[in-house]
Amino acid sequence: MLSQIIDTHCHYDDNAFDIDRDTLLPEILSDIRGAVHASTDEKSSLFGIETAERFKNFYTSVGFHPESMENLPKSPFETTINLARRSKKVVAIGEIGLDYHYDGYDRNKQLDLFVSQLEVAKDLGLPVIIHLRDATEDGLEILKRYKPKGVMHCFSGSAEIAREVVKLGMYVSFTGVLTFKNARKAVKACEAVPIERLLLETDCPYMAPEPYRGKRCDSRMIRFTAEKMAEIKGVAPLDMIKIAAENSCGLFGLDI
Ligand SMILES: [Zn+2]
Repeated sequence: MLSQIIDTHCHYDDNAFDIDRDTLLPEILSDIRGAVHASTDEKSSLFGIETAERFKNFYTSVGFHPESMENLPKSPFETTINLARRSKKVVAIGEIGLDYHYDGYDRNKQLDLFVSQLEVAKDLGLPVIIHLRDATEDGLEILKRYKPKGVMHCFSGSAEIAREVVKLGMYVSFTGVLTFKNARKAVKACEAVPIERLLLETDCPYMAPEPYRGKRCDSRMIRFTAEKMAEIKGVAPLDMIKIAAENSCGLFGLDI
């Protein structure tokens, strides 16, 4: 089962992996089918590119997360284009979007950054990895305008919003949150997404599924999320993992 897993959203550059990254990452990547690193700023994009050059089944996005606002280069647009051109293993622009959860990140600046990152994706013909937190209304309005190819990551909206996202032609991805006991909303949303539009992700080191909730997460734990997703969709866990992996290859053009 592990060997079929594709983790479409991971953060192995996170401090939580500082103590054992060099031994852990090769081990994980030899256990699973593949992983896509989700970048949040320039440094994280460079980590993704360098790691993707080292491991055949590791791919990366490049881009600027709304929480990178304080550390933006002079032209995020130019920088993102240049980063994307550094490697054929850059398969997406992300994670990009809007985060209204914390005050302190100017909303207008976030909107400008989001739109400019969508422009990069359009210019380069790459899919996007979207992060929306407490900003569904503004986010959907922009996505309706740009109609990017891409995925709504760590989906936390309602079934109704999930249907809208699917109608836009996008994929919907779930983390370990799907396995939490209080995850009624996520379960309903997952029910509403056609199986050919579902992706699996960890968002590791965060969002570890049950029975590891609260622990450091890694890509192998996706099997617990997949088991829950399989139950919701009425298929066998291994089939769910394979279907989600094929969906990931289709969206990101992965050759694994
Ligand atoms: Zn993430």
